[in-house]
Amino acid sequence: KENSTRENNVAKIKVVVRKRPLNKKELAKREDDAVTVSDNAYLTVYEPKLKVDLTAYVDKHEFCFDAVLDEHVTNDEVYRATVEPIIPTIFERTKATCFAYGQTGSGKTYTMQPLPLRAAEDLVRQLHQPVYLSQKYKLWLSYFEIYGGKLFDLLSDRRKLCMREDGRQQVCIVGLQEFEVFDVQIVKDFIEKGNASRSTGSTGANEESSRSHAILQLVVKTHNEVKAGKRNTDGNEAKSGKVVGKISFIDLAGSERGADTTDNDRQTRIEGAEINKSLLALKECIRALDNDQIHIPFRGSKLTEVLRDSFVGNSKTVMISCISPGAGSCEHTLNTLRYADRVK
Ligand code: ADP
Ligand code: MG
Repeated sequence: KENSTRENNVAKIKVVVRKRPLNKKELAKREDDAVTVSDNAYLTVYEPKLKVDLTAYVDKHEFCFDAVLDEHVTNDEVYRATVEPIIPTIFERTKATCFAYGQTGSGKTYTMQPLPLRAAEDLVRQLHQPVYLSQKYKLWLSYFEIYGGKLFDLLSDRRKLCMREDGRQQVCIVGLQEFEVFDVQIVKDFIEKGNASRSTGSTGANEESSRSHAILQLVVKTHNEVKAGKRNTDGNEAKSGKVVGKISFIDLAGSERGADTTDNDRQTRIEGAEINKSLLALKECIRALDNDQIHIPFRGSKLTEVLRDSFVGNSKTVMISCISPGAGSCEHTLNTLRYADRVK
């Protein structure tokens, strides 16, 4: 996009689409691949439709994004196209966010899980560069979930958390556990631990996690020598110093869940309304950011409130929209692409 602000040659907002391969179930049903990608930036959806007299025809929809990654692209290539260019800016006071958006089953988690590992690897390497070594920066990790508009710490037995803003408009999640990252293995262990703790709902079904947003943050902080006996009101800050920059990885709730507002089950309806609200608020915030608006409507939802400090100042946003290629998923795929198009 021509008018987007560029700092260090990294776009402020980048919208990337990732198409996954047809899965076994779709192949067994002989579903057509309805999505074609060209020139790493263009995408066409062939939507099968029926006329009133039941003759079949195809509706063709064309889109263009900053990048379109087809079914042959590896997770490593996804990292290079999305997060890697942002890493150096984290040391220059940037707050970055990387979202995975899309319907349940479109590949959000598959895409998102490896990214913090690669990012941590690169961040730790940077910390050891001579320029930063003298600063004694440290890398911290936290992992939490927003479910039904409430926050839960995924690294401390789903402890319920609340959010507070300090005088400098910094977001503070009271009680959120942060752990120092020394190497990539630690990040792997924490992701596994956190995933095991993700919402499973009353049915115990894994798919309940599609109703929550999972947020993993990697934060570079200055190193504070804590004096013995001295305690700060906010334990985390005392322990770990001031934030230099950070990157948040957000595995969003399934986009189709926002439509659960007419479900028979009351709880499902409430969750659906909350998801709908947060995805709309997110779109509005990114658009406001892109237009350099002074007023960012972050109060629209818990998700955007939590990310408030990532929507002001030096911020970078990467939206990865995940799509299923099957002809049977066309409606959801088009919804996802229209959402991404509005963000762009
Ligand atoms: P979501 O988190 O959006 O609900 P998942 O990431 O769980 O979806 O993906 C659904 C299934 O598809 C998983 O079994 C996953 O391994 C597989 N999958 C997703 N994306 C890809 C891909 N690009 N290549 C291969 N398999 C994929
Ligand atoms: Mg998932």
